Amino acid sequence: MPLPKPLATVASLRWRRLFRSRDQQGDGGRSQRERQGEQRLLKSVYGSEADGIDSFFVVTNIIMTENQIQGVCPEFPIAKAVCSTDRSCMEGRMDPQSNGIQTGKCVKYNTTLKTCEVKAWCPVESIKSAPVPATLRSAENFTVLIKNNIHFPKFNYTTRNISPEFNISCTYNKRMAAYCPIFRLGDILQLAGENFSEVAVQGGIIGIEINWDCILDKWLHRCRPTYGFRRLDDKKTNEALYPGYNFRYARYYKQANGKEERTLIKAYGIRFDILVFGTAGQFDFFELLVYIGSALSYFGLHSDKVRSPGNSQELQSLQNKGVTSSSHERPSWCSCGKCRPAQSYWEQLCCRKKDGACITASALFEQLVISRPMLELVLLYKDPLLDLKAETLNKQLRHCAYEQYIHWRFGEDDLKERAMIPSCCRWKIRDAFPSERGEYSGFKRTK
Ligand SMILES: [Zn+2]
Ligand SMILES: [Zn+2]
Repeated sequence: MPLPKPLATVASLRWRRLFRSRDQQGDGGRSQRERQGEQRLLKSVYGSEADGIDSFFVVTNIIMTENQIQGVCPEFPIAKAVCSTDRSCMEGRMDPQSNGIQTGKCVKYNTTLKTCEVKAWCPVESIKSAPVPATLRSAENFTVLIKNNIHFPKFNYTTRNISPEFNISCTYNKRMAAYCPIFRLGDILQLAGENFSEVAVQGGIIGIEINWDCILDKWLHRCRPTYGFRRLDDKKTNEALYPGYNFRYARYYKQANGKEERTLIKAYGIRFDILVFGTAGQFDFFELLVYIGSALSYFGLHSDKVRSPGNSQELQSLQNKGVTSSSHERPSWCSCGKCRPAQSYWEQLCCRKKDGACITASALFEQLVISRPMLELVLLYKDPLLDLKAETLNKQLRHCAYEQYIHWRFGEDDLKERAMIPSCCRWKIRDAFPSERGEYSGFKRTK
């Protein structure tokens, strides 16, 4: 089974809905400046989806430290930086958790605490843990449109997850709209077994799986994706191991006096990774039929065992009535009582999986498959000048009956050369239009 090559996967968040949902939520007294900052932030971070990579990031929580300038200031009171005298601090010391390089002085952080002074962007970030509830938890109502094109090289087949009859106003729903490529972020989290507003605080990574399971045969074409969702990061990691998903970045500005100023942003958010899986296949129809045939043989054997002593009376009465043909012994793989023994295993096919009446006893079989006037009509339709008294007519009627059966049961002329007719039906047709010498070519394997 060859793997599909994802040609392109593009996720685009919907802006309009994004801002509408923010308006609905109401910003609850946040400052104009804060709001502007957020919108700037949203634009910059959402903008990254333009890179065309198979993941997108949605900011759900932020810590913003504005107006930082380069200078000296007290370090944030992490354990290593708390001091009482200059002796606790060391000039030039640097720690991965600290914000800058120590100057060697111990200074006042607030009214109760002293920390080592650092050369850094000052003032340093003053909040340690992510705000609860998450600042941008309304991102739950954002939607994302995922476009995924795939190609199966072996079959030279290309398709995409957006069907021509795609309705732009749909929203994915596992039961009601399983093919809709627009997903509400809150729904994605829910389907992954998570709660959006909880994950929004610390951030996380969610996988969106697009599974392509395709059958590329003309007669049974099926190639549409199913979607799956799961959390990829480990939410159980303890606090010390930095749970969730976040990163810092800064925006730099120049003040009138030429001094550099920056706004530091610690962004928590959910990264959505799009993972594409898939298989495609074309059944070799013959193989499929062999499979069905052998499966049926197995059923036949199975019911044979059940039948043996207890039901012998029933069998006997049937024989007494002359229902089963006395000249042909019932093969073990037959469940309808009308099949005849066959040498080749692919001809050991019954019309039934379980015991019951034979399809040849049905009224439709009579009308569609072996009714002579019907078959003559079909033959004349194909060849209006056909001589209905020709010696070869039986053979033509017989083959026409096989085709009628296939067309009736399989519905496709494509399968004419490949479909296997059950033994009972084959013999019913042969008996109705026998060959003069009693010889039949049997099923010709096309491979
Ligand atoms: Zn049978
Ligand atoms: Zn049958």
